[in-house]
Amino acid sequence: MNKTDSIEKIKGIGAKKAELFNRLGICTCEDLLNYFPRGYDKYEEPSEFKDCTVGVRNAVLAAVKTAPRVIRYGSKSVVSFSVADISGIVCEVKFFNAAYMLKSVKPGDIRVFRGILRSFKGKLILDQPKMYKRDEYEKLAGSITPVYSLTKDLSNESIKKAIASVLKDYPFGEDYLTKKECDDWGLTDSFTAYNDIHFPPDETHQYYARRRLVFDEFAFFVHMQRAGTGASEKLPNTHPMIEVADCNRLKEALPYSLTNAQERAVSDIISDMTGPYLMNRLVQGDVGSGKTVVAVMALLTAAANNRQGAMMAPTEVLARQHFENIKKLSERYKLCIRPVLLVGKMGVKDKREALESIKTGEANVIIGTHALITETVEYKDLSLVITDEQHRFGVKQREKLMEKGVSPHILVMSATPIPRTLAMIVFGGLDISVIDEMPKNRIPISNCVVNSDFRIKAYEKILSEIKKGHQAYVICPMVYENDESDTELKSVEEHTKELRSYFGESVRIASLNGKMKPAEKARIMEEFKEQKTDILVSTTVIEVGIDVPNATVIMIENSERFGLSQLHQLRGRVGRGDAPSFCIMMSDTTNKLTLKRLKVLNDTNDGFKIAEEDMKLRGPGELNGVRQSGELTFGLGDIVNDGDIMLLAAEKYDIIKNRIPTLNRNLIDIRTI
Ligand code: ADP
Ligand code: MG
Repeated sequence: MNKTDSIEKIKGIGAKKAELFNRLGICTCEDLLNYFPRGYDKYEEPSEFKDCTVGVRNAVLAAVKTAPRVIRYGSKSVVSFSVADISGIVCEVKFFNAAYMLKSVKPGDIRVFRGILRSFKGKLILDQPKMYKRDEYEKLAGSITPVYSLTKDLSNESIKKAIASVLKDYPFGEDYLTKKECDDWGLTDSFTAYNDIHFPPDETHQYYARRRLVFDEFAFFVHMQRAGTGASEKLPNTHPMIEVADCNRLKEALPYSLTNAQERAVSDIISDMTGPYLMNRLVQGDVGSGKTVVAVMALLTAAANNRQGAMMAPTEVLARQHFENIKKLSERYKLCIRPVLLVGKMGVKDKREALESIKTGEANVIIGTHALITETVEYKDLSLVITDEQHRFGVKQREKLMEKGVSPHILVMSATPIPRTLAMIVFGGLDISVIDEMPKNRIPISNCVVNSDFRIKAYEKILSEIKKGHQAYVICPMVYENDESDTELKSVEEHTKELRSYFGESVRIASLNGKMKPAEKARIMEEFKEQKTDILVSTTVIEVGIDVPNATVIMIENSERFGLSQLHQLRGRVGRGDAPSFCIMMSDTTNKLTLKRLKVLNDTNDGFKIAEEDMKLRGPGELNGVRQSGELTFGLGDIVNDGDIMLLAAEKYDIIKNRIPTLNRNLIDIRTI
């Protein structure tokens, strides 16, 4: 086997199956080897209900008590029956759209039921558990299975098999790190790392495997950066501008005054744009520190200089929010900004008009998603590109812009809380402005970590805020299953139903999930913003950037399943106005390390401190290796949580620089913007 052999060489993969793998970006054996699990599944020893934790996955040995029956709800049907464990504790088991179970399940059957346990109004419920015969489960108990991202018609089992056979014959060759280096730097050897990342015998092996592979990734990243062709060199300012009075006019008109930190960032930006070199700047500020208005000042400066500026957001919802805000601002304060929205999915006529106005220069501020840099967009004079809450704007995008003959000022807005030493490595070549101060009207968010016993209290809190005219978010985690079932959708839907039944008609509840069309998501967000709904139930699709200052409570279900940085981002959705805000983190976990983590969040609202503590708390013992904080994502590594590995790679770079192999992973080059 050669690294570059087509996967069709692997036993069991024919042309048809290869096509499915291709859809996942896997063409060669090397691609396959580097297709890492997105999570792991550890089969627990079966237990009794009294020993189970609500909200997490459990495996319970129980007997079927009642014959299955069908309940209809909406267009869907639910098959449900009750089961009891050896001590007689009863639990309701529910399956969606599974009429076939009416025949296959009979009272008296003894099975292991494995799924996430819920408790509702004092009753135990298992939604969509996997069912196993006793002896079948005994073979699985204790083992760890990799969970891969799938595509239609390609099962986790097929990917596992293919990877197992690649591991067997792959020409690993000699490790580029010596044994001594590995030992000294706390790294596992490459061969072991590849084997253990896919098939870890235990948590500790998985931890060290991941650590080694992340090191490789970061070493390659540092290499690209240092060996890069003048990426960090200053380019002459081909779009020189002058400072404009409009910015001061806007500042005076705003209902608040900018913080000193915002003022500093604005002044850095303006001196870049009016200076001798092209701007290449990162504005780093915690959630809620007010980065948007800083971006607007940059756009306004470009517009007043008769040039075009573009702002790119990671999602359509965010792009629309920015567009509406900027439009309102420019109308209210009669700014010279003529904004236009450009997103992937918009009406043909609207799109044509938008493109035309961009081409003629009629629009001078263009707000959108990645659609902004696709080939069909022709700019009159694009002089400034701002990216908000994302760094996906990498080499390729920049090349695309260069092909169009544009090399604009670049401004990157980030809430990723990484310390300066790390930022200097990661964003080598970018100048940094830090917004290290919150607007003065902010009252710190009150936090609590509670278990389901406090559920009713939490609901009462939400209700009392709604009665004051405020709004609330309820966040459910994306549940990922070992198959392509749309459990995520169901968890939000189910939860919405429960909330509706608790709060009754007088509270308006809307729900949002990742499977909705962008326009629908945007509409629901807009209605929430306009206070047409009181509670928004959602998965993490609302995670970044959404700004509804009237929302004062956020309740996060199963908070143990989120990374700390992600929780901090979520929490940042409240506390954006001048009313006291609350973050309720629900968790029934009993894992000590997890609770310690949540406590960090409970104790501080400072994103940087949280990231620092999170880093310290990491270690072998948990199977959460592939969790990512969303931003600054690499193939495997995560800047926020793996900062120490990045520092190690940078420190050792000079020793290994002539040996670092080219990595064939889905790397995102953050720096070369
Ligand atoms: P983020 O940095 O998370 O992108 P935003 O730019 O969305 O934060 O700002 C959060 C909220 O704070 C917005 O409602 C914004 O209008 C408001 N805001 C921004 N700057 C100030 C300030 N200096 N004083 C008071 N409120 C501010
Ligand atoms: Mg923002």
